[in-house]
Amino acid sequence: MTTLLGVSLAGRTVVLIGGGPVTARRLERLLADGARPRVVAPEVCEAVRALIDDHGVVWVRRRARAGDLAGAWLAHTATGDPRVDARVAGWCERRRVLCVNASDGAHGSARLAAETRSGDVVVGIVSDAGVDPRRAAGVRDAIAALLRDGALPVRRRRRSAAGRVDLVGGGPGPTDLITVRGRRLLAEADVVVADRLGPTDVLDDLDPDVEIIDVGKAPGHHPVPQEEINALLVEHARAGKRVVRLKGGDPFVYGRGGEEVAACHAAGIPVEVVPGLTSVVSVPQSAGIPVTHRGTAAGIHVVNGQAETSPSTIAALADPSVTTVVLMGVAALPRLAAAARAAGVPADRPVAIVESGHTSSQRTTRTTIADADRVARAQGVRNPAVIVIGDVARADLLLPLPVLTGDEHR
Ligand code: SAH
Repeated sequence: MTTLLGVSLAGRTVVLIGGGPVTARRLERLLADGARPRVVAPEVCEAVRALIDDHGVVWVRRRARAGDLAGAWLAHTATGDPRVDARVAGWCERRRVLCVNASDGAHGSARLAAETRSGDVVVGIVSDAGVDPRRAAGVRDAIAALLRDGALPVRRRRRSAAGRVDLVGGGPGPTDLITVRGRRLLAEADVVVADRLGPTDVLDDLDPDVEIIDVGKAPGHHPVPQEEINALLVEHARAGKRVVRLKGGDPFVYGRGGEEVAACHAAGIPVEVVPGLTSVVSVPQSAGIPVTHRGTAAGIHVVNGQAETSPSTIAALADPSVTTVVLMGVAALPRLAAAARAAGVPADRPVAIVESGHTSSQRTTRTTIADADRVARAQGVRNPAVIVIGDVARADLLLPLPVLTGDEHR
């Protein structure tokens, strides 16, 4: 029978007998766990040598003796000779030092688990009967995949004093376009403060007792003022809760994430930011538009349509090698188009308006700078939309050139 035990090896002496590749792998792991390893071997392979040099590991350069186990909490024997490993295991037994025996088919008094981590959760797989590393790794990987998908109930049940805030960029909407890290933090959250945009469907997967606070803004309406959102984040984190502030796209692109981070800093609350796929790039992409394209567009100018038209935006619109990407820009389209025309932008500069990118109601309207206002009104274009102005917005940009057969001349 095996009892799986979570052991803290930090600062504790672990003796590794043998200097081959198995020792190298274990040495690396032990060093990462903060253990104090000591290697006993007449010679060591390159990988072990590098770890010894890089981490100042003690190396006793000879064959092992029973006395080498003095002061050890744990031993690991991988000499490549089963008889030697068995002898080491015997010394360990008499000295009451737990021993991992890496010989094929051997059973030491301890065995290492195939491990995976997700946040502060550690999962280990061991076997009661014969060692089977590939099976253990297979089970471990399957659990790791579930953890990555946020499919396991990893939320802490016991409140720790350490409340915190994570600003999570949720991407443009589909649940599989949020990052793995964002998904994990959502699965661990006690409180989720969410917007109208972004992957709102992931909220349905959360435990029923997770508190979801909707602070979603529609353009022109501001149901929850930013100061109140900041205060909410701080207040829940102070109560010891894990707070996720879920945002559409990326938290630092027109998301006021910077203000929320500053508010947490001011209140002494630990805060981190998880990037998300910003609609600046992903929404044009959903319509097949690359925001840069070799030979067509070498730069991107991103602008908030609600801000005044600045000289840099006029310059970008006038530059044929720059793609202008406008967020929150439906109302500003007539003004931007007029400014562009006044700056001498050719009437046929392509414009694409992509509404609700990456959702089932996605719609792309292609037009030109001269017709943009009229066409957008005729189509009833609405937010959320990303407007792309520049040659990359041409409908045929990525289509193969028509093959001329010669028949055209007949
Ligand atoms: N932080 C977000 C942007 C927030 S501002 C990001 O990085 O993407 C909100 C604006 O983003 C909307 O007005 C619209 O211009 C754009 N937007 C966000 N999601 C969108 C989507 N799925 N389709 C079209 N536009 C979107």
